[in-house]
Amino acid sequence: MPETYMLAIDQGTTSSRAIVFDHRGRTVASAQKEFPQHYPKPGWVEHDPMDIWSSQSTVTAEAVSKANLDSDRIAAVGITNQRETVIVWDKKSGKPIYNAIVWQDRRTARTCKRLQKQLDEAGKSDLIRQKTGLTLDPYFSATKIAWILDNVDGARQRAEAGELLCGTVDTWLIWKFTGGKVHVTDVTNACRTLLFNLKDECWDDELLSLFDVPHQMLPEVKSCSEVYGHISANLYPGGVPIAGIAGDQHAALFGQACFEPGMAKNTYGTGCFLLMQTGTESIRSENNLLSTIAWKIGDTTEYALEGSVFIGGAVIQWLRDELRIIQTASECDHLAETVSDSGGLYLVPAFAGLGAPHWDPLARGACFGITRGTNRAHFCRAALESIAFQSYDLMKCMEKDSGITLKELRVDGGASKSRPLMQFQSDLLQRDVVQPQCIETTALGAAYLAGLAVGFWKSREEILENWEEGKRYKPGQEGDDMRAGLAKWQRAVKRSKDWLDEDES
Ligand code: ADP
Repeated sequence: MPETYMLAIDQGTTSSRAIVFDHRGRTVASAQKEFPQHYPKPGWVEHDPMDIWSSQSTVTAEAVSKANLDSDRIAAVGITNQRETVIVWDKKSGKPIYNAIVWQDRRTARTCKRLQKQLDEAGKSDLIRQKTGLTLDPYFSATKIAWILDNVDGARQRAEAGELLCGTVDTWLIWKFTGGKVHVTDVTNACRTLLFNLKDECWDDELLSLFDVPHQMLPEVKSCSEVYGHISANLYPGGVPIAGIAGDQHAALFGQACFEPGMAKNTYGTGCFLLMQTGTESIRSENNLLSTIAWKIGDTTEYALEGSVFIGGAVIQWLRDELRIIQTASECDHLAETVSDSGGLYLVPAFAGLGAPHWDPLARGACFGITRGTNRAHFCRAALESIAFQSYDLMKCMEKDSGITLKELRVDGGASKSRPLMQFQSDLLQRDVVQPQCIETTALGAAYLAGLAVGFWKSREEILENWEEGKRYKPGQEGDDMRAGLAKWQRAVKRSKDWLDEDES
């Protein structure tokens, strides 16, 4: 029998990727394409759903063709995606009725405040946390779906008449890849919508009514590892089963083989996401983290605690694309290494408000400590440090909530390629920071979930053997400078909070 392979479709916030993996979890071939970001107003972030689809279908075909494989050599496809981003489309024509509203988008900040007030007045302040494990923030999907229904002409009536479908990016892609046959999502994506009951694992009528989202638009919710459908015959690689779905952070936790409760990983992508597996119990955070489903395989659901920071590696893109003081991300690393510190510069990248543990949609980015001698190397260093400072805050909350002191931190994601960032993170945390051989853990996790469903991998033990250490960063001596820097950073964050007036949000 010729050897078979797994294909992972990894639809990220800034790029679409596809990777072919072998049985050892090694990359055989990959393709990647950035796609345009749209910022129609301050605080708004959109993608064209057709850009998501065309970039994703192009790289998928490209990766398979680079690997020189016919579709019968692909055992199955796993899908992973940017979470919370929503798309609403016409069931018949398949045309989106509005751009995708991206997870970073803040346009519904006021709606969230109003709804929280309504809940407080009804004596139900804790309803959202209790039912969903989340906090009432524009980050999540529900208010974005309602916004589209309320702002596109006729959309609400059409949704109620069953003419429109909605979904997160996994749902959109599966619908497109199966030629409009399959409308599903998985528990990890569903549990980020504010509409999904974490305990009962179903769309929750009380939440649907609170957010005013018609049930009939929503996809069927499935586990993370089963055959949902097959790639449409006219697409390359047609006929292959789609057998795994997980939101990017959940897939990365799986790809990092964090199979035991207490194991954690931090992904440095567009944002930073620290997730700790908590086993079959969902732990409620006392420190403003989220409770989320890690994955569901068969009938077993496992949970995770999550700290979400909205702007991580995206701050480097901002230096590149908006300030234009670097041309590439690696130039940022190089420049940052030409100075020994940030020269007293502190950057708070609250471009989309602040996520965990502050949850302040009214915060905005800030820069403190600029002097006449501040140069672009200092900016690069301060930007990288801001990513590490935010991750430090998440880790401290996680340790308090779980009562577990992490011995080391497993890392992945695009910005984990940055040596100065990883070294600074290790110095700041005073822990080893460990990168696996394969830092494409998001794609790998999706491949693993699909592979388990079709017997490509037989068990988690087999997967565990694939995890190999790549780089290890050891902490330097913790100096007074580091502690003073942390205190300054925390002051800077405080000052960036509540920057907008409510009516500006
Ligand atoms: P996503 O899946 O969210 O699109 P990725 O994991 O692909 O994100 O990571 C992309 C992010 O990593 C970008 O925001 C980019 O600025 C950042 N990045 C990539 N390489 C480096 C580097 N060498 N140094 C710092 N940041 C980097």
